[in-house]
Amino acid sequence: KKIEHKVAIITGAGSGIGRAAALLLAQNGVKVVVSDINESHGHQVVNEIKSMGADALFIKADTSRASDHEMLVNKTIEVFGRLDIAINNAGIGGPLAPTGEYPIDGWQQVIDINLSGVFYGLRYQIPAMIENGGAIVNIASILGAVGTRFSPAYVASKHGVVGLTKAAALEYANKGIRINSIGPGYIKTPLVMDSLDKDTLDMLVGLHPIGRLGESSEIAELILWLSSTQSSFVNGAYFPIDGGYLAQ
Ligand code: NAD
Repeated sequence: KKIEHKVAIITGAGSGIGRAAALLLAQNGVKVVVSDINESHGHQVVNEIKSMGADALFIKADTSRASDHEMLVNKTIEVFGRLDIAINNAGIGGPLAPTGEYPIDGWQQVIDINLSGVFYGLRYQIPAMIENGGAIVNIASILGAVGTRFSPAYVASKHGVVGLTKAAALEYANKGIRINSIGPGYIKTPLVMDSLDKDTLDMLVGLHPIGRLGESSEIAELILWLSSTQSSFVNGAYFPIDGGYLAQ
């Protein structure tokens, strides 16, 4: 286990991709701070991790608030003594509408959570890693590389995450902190399965050359690799993980 005894913060870890990453990192010996705005889901994930005999802690935080990230990092260091890994994963889909009709408040909410949330994370995680080094993985999307109709805020926020990742990676590349982003295709999580009807889901399957949507556990494997020293020469990169979606 190349990643044992490390300490990780994962935002949005109560569900979907964040939950899968929390479970996989914990299985690999990482002490995981499970953070989410949803307390009951967060506690459930911590209980799952503890029942595997690993260490975890739930800290409630709203990713769209800078002060919550400051508190999250401070509490992590208080309890576990250090911070080695951060997975900036919390995100929402937001309203569906064409740009010319897009709700102004919906735009602001998506940008606050999906983009500013990642910046606020970096803003407090990086200073906590500067002495010992670390690895940060920002969860973008295939929609960080291409567009789609009716989700302009989501597409803009995810392109923003890819750019922010590159900018920050350059600044800390020679200081022992690696910062990368990933671009999942459509994954079977509540974000997708609870908001889309069967016809839309079938249409989405057709956009993935592999012929199916992805599983959270498949995304967690890439997150684990980027968090570990196995990926020690990887920095500032954007990794599609999408069953071939972006190859077309
Ligand atoms: P999900 O809805 O299953 O989980 C997201 C979690 O984030 C939830 O537990 C939710 O409570 C939490 N969250 C929402 N707003 C928050 C806030 N303000 N502060 C803290 N936590 C908050 O979604 P998921 O599919 O696992 O998505 C995780 C990330 O992956 C998101 O950034 C999403 O954009 C990205 N992503 C998902 C897909 C997909 O197809 N599911 C594809 C590409 C990228």
